[in-house]
This record gives sequence, structure tokens and C-alpha cells, in this order.
Amino acid sequence: MAAATRSDRSVDPWENAHMSEFDCVILGGGIAGASLAWQLAGFHRVAILEQETQCGYHTTGRSAALYLESYGPAGVRALTRASRGFLCSPPDGFAEVPLLAPRGALHLAFQGQEILLKNSLAELSAVCPDLVVLDAAAAWELAPCLRLDRLIGGLLEQGAQDMDVDALHQGYLRGARRLGAQVRTDIRIESVARANGNWRLRLADGSGIDTPLLVNATGAWADETARLCGARPVGLEPRRRSAFTFEAGADDEPSRWPALIAMDEGWYIKPGHGRLLGSPANADPTTPHDVAPDEMDIATAIYRIEEATRLTIRRPTSTWAGLRTFAPDGEMVIGFDPQCEGFFWLAGQGGYGIQSAPGASDLAACLIRGTPLSSVLTRSGVSPDAFSPARFHPT
Ligand SMILES: Cc1cc2nc3c(=O)[nH]c(=O)nc-3n(C[C@H](O)[C@H](O)[C@H](O)COP(=O)(O)OP(=O)(O)OC[C@H]3O[C@@H](n4cnc5c(N)ncnc54)[C@H](O)[C@@H]3O)c2cc1C
Repeated sequence: MAAATRSDRSVDPWENAHMSEFDCVILGGGIAGASLAWQLAGFHRVAILEQETQCGYHTTGRSAALYLESYGPAGVRALTRASRGFLCSPPDGFAEVPLLAPRGALHLAFQGQEILLKNSLAELSAVCPDLVVLDAAAAWELAPCLRLDRLIGGLLEQGAQDMDVDALHQGYLRGARRLGAQVRTDIRIESVARANGNWRLRLADGSGIDTPLLVNATGAWADETARLCGARPVGLEPRRRSAFTFEAGADDEPSRWPALIAMDEGWYIKPGHGRLLGSPANADPTTPHDVAPDEMDIATAIYRIEEATRLTIRRPTSTWAGLRTFAPDGEMVIGFDPQCEGFFWLAGQGGYGIQSAPGASDLAACLIRGTPLSSVLTRSGVSPDAFSPARFHPT
């Protein structure tokens, strides 16, 4: 087993591995936990413990499934760039369908938003080399559902892709299992204690699990999980985002349209197979829970979309909401806790956790193994310090 360097933690997490059933227990089986299990399994004895009956029940199963390299703060963008190669050509046998499909994303400005358009152009062209500037007529050509009389221009991000989130998530879980990882669902953890270099987890069914290394990949619950384990929370905030699907008009061909994103972040539409996904792009702070959409969220989105397009949304075909969880500075939290021995964070994925999962889990695995960063991370400009949990509690 690879010995860990001591640069980013005070103890060797593998020191007491021989006393435990698992080298590493990952709490949470969403995209974060599943992707890390896949990275570590085969080299280490890994278990995922998931509280729900399905690993993708919470945020991972509720995303808009869009890959946007321009999205998020600098560290997130680097992790997303580092993920592209894996998503374009995953290892043989990982998934039976492509994980990415061309879509494009059209960022839109409407009358009265001239300054916003100018600022967005400056911001997006700095991070998006393939950006195409379109006047209103050219933007309308790409998505004739837009109201041409209100539109003033668009910025087309050509590299934006649709992601098959289920194929990615299941690919990670299946691959991790094949490499020997255990995935246990319906798990309730009653207590967690650290003694003699090992964690002892007591489960609600009366059984116990020992491991030297606990990974906190519990999404919206990650600060609560930290408290349970005696680590200091980092100030994560879960924010509700609501979404719904609806039918396009009989004459529309939405599968040809790019994703349509209002530059003022008031709404977006993502075309799918015959249906459209809409969202008010809301980010309402809340507590960790099984979140449902507020009726007002959906009504707001419908109003804004109908104002900007000639689409008529009589009744959504389905509605849902999910929790996007953010650290105070918007970057993810990836690394060993500086004060709590054997406790590793993989949290704060915000609105980017799917598109960045290959890069984020690669980074997490390098830090856990104590190896240098992989070449793809280095090439993509990933710097571990940007994600370190130590940034919230400097010593
Ligand atoms: C509407 C919406 C649209 C989005 N669109 C996109 C997009 O287009 N592209 C993109 O990249 N991202 C998108 N996201 C964000 C993305 O979905 C998240 O960043 C990502 O799914 C977070 O993954 P996770 O594994 O951290 O969290 P989760 O999927 O929530 O997984 C955490 C898991 O931990 C489990 N858990 C919690 N506490 C415990 C415990 N004590 N013991 C055991 N298990 C526990 C939970 O049950 C849960 O399954 C979107 C999100 C939403 C809501």
C-alpha cells in the first residue's frame, strides 16, 4: 500500500489499516463518493455507505446534465477541464453509451441588458476560447422559439455538451464494485468515534465498521457529517434549485436547439428528447433535507420563459428540486481536515459536481494516496490549495 506523504496531514491514514475491514470508508454514494470509490478500489479496500436506498437519490439524480467549461470559479473550471478527456473517452467497458453529446449553450441578453451583454462577453471570452458572438437575428436562427423583438444578442459556447449522468454515475458504481468495493445502501450511522488511529462507526442495525480513513462525500449533509465526526464545519450552504420538464410546441424542433441561458441568471432551458427542461436558476439557501420545488419557483420560471420566448407552458410534465451545496468562496472542499485525523473532505460541489467529477475524484485520490498530481490535473491548472479545507480554519 502506498505510504502517504506528510505534507498535507499529520498522520499516515494507512498506519492502522491492518486492524480494519476497510482501508477507506466513503460516506455518501452520489457522484462524489462513487467517483472516488472507483479511483481507489483495486488499490485499497473501499466501502461506500449511503443512507438512502439508491445512491443517486439526492442531488446527483436531479441535475440538468449540462457540461459547461465556462461555469463556476477558477478552481472548478480547472477540474472541469481536467474531466473532459475522461468524459469524451472513458475506459473500455465503463459505460455502454457515450457520456457526452454535442449541445452548445447560448447565453442570451434582452432589451435593457446592454451592459450585462458587454460584461458577459468580457467574462466569458476570457475563459471560453470557442465563444461566438451573435447578433439577435443569428441567435434567433439557432433557437427560433426566442422573441426576436426582445432579444439583443447572444454568446454561443460551442463546446457545451449534454451529459448522461446516470451512465456516468452507474459506470463509477459498477466499476468500483468490479474492483472489489462494497456499496451498502440504507445505512444509518448512530455514532462515530476515533481511537488508536481508527474510526469506529456504529450503525443503527447494531453492527460496527472500523476504518483508518473516513471520506465525507455527503453533499448537503457534509457539515452535519463533520460535526458527527468531531470535525469543524466549513460553512457549507445548501441552496435549492428547482426544475421542470414541459412539451415543446408542435412545430418546434428543440433537439436542434442549444441550451438557452439568460445572462441575468433568471432562467434557463435545456432541450431533451422531445421535451424541454426549464428552471428559474434559483439558489435559495436552506437546510439539508429531501427538497421539493416551491410552486412559486416553477411559476416564476414559466413567467420568465414565456416572456423571453414564444413557448407556451400549459402544464409541466414533471417538477423537482435539488440542493446545490456551496462553500463560502464557491470552490469545492477537497482534502484532509487539518485538525481531525483521518477525515477527508470531498464536498461543496455546488452546481458543477457532475461535469467535474472525473477531475475532482482524481485530485482526491492523489491527495489520499500521497502521490504527485496526475499529468491531466497539472496540465489543466489544478492547484490543491484552492480546495483545501484548511483555508477555512487557518492555524
Ligand atoms: C437542478 C440542478 C441542476 C444541476 N445541474 C448540473 C449540471 O448541469 N451539471 C453539473 O455538473 N452539476 C449540476 N448540478 C449539481 C450536481 O448535481 C451536484 O454538484 C452533484 O450531484 C453533487 O454530488 P454529491 O455526490 O456531492 O451529492 P449527492 O448526490 O447529494 O450525494 C450525497 C449523498 O450522501 C448521502 N448522505 C448524506 N448523509 C449521509 C450519511 N450520514 N451517511 C450516509 N450517506 C449520507 C446522501 O443520501 C446522498 O446520496 C445540478 C444540481 C441541481 C439541483
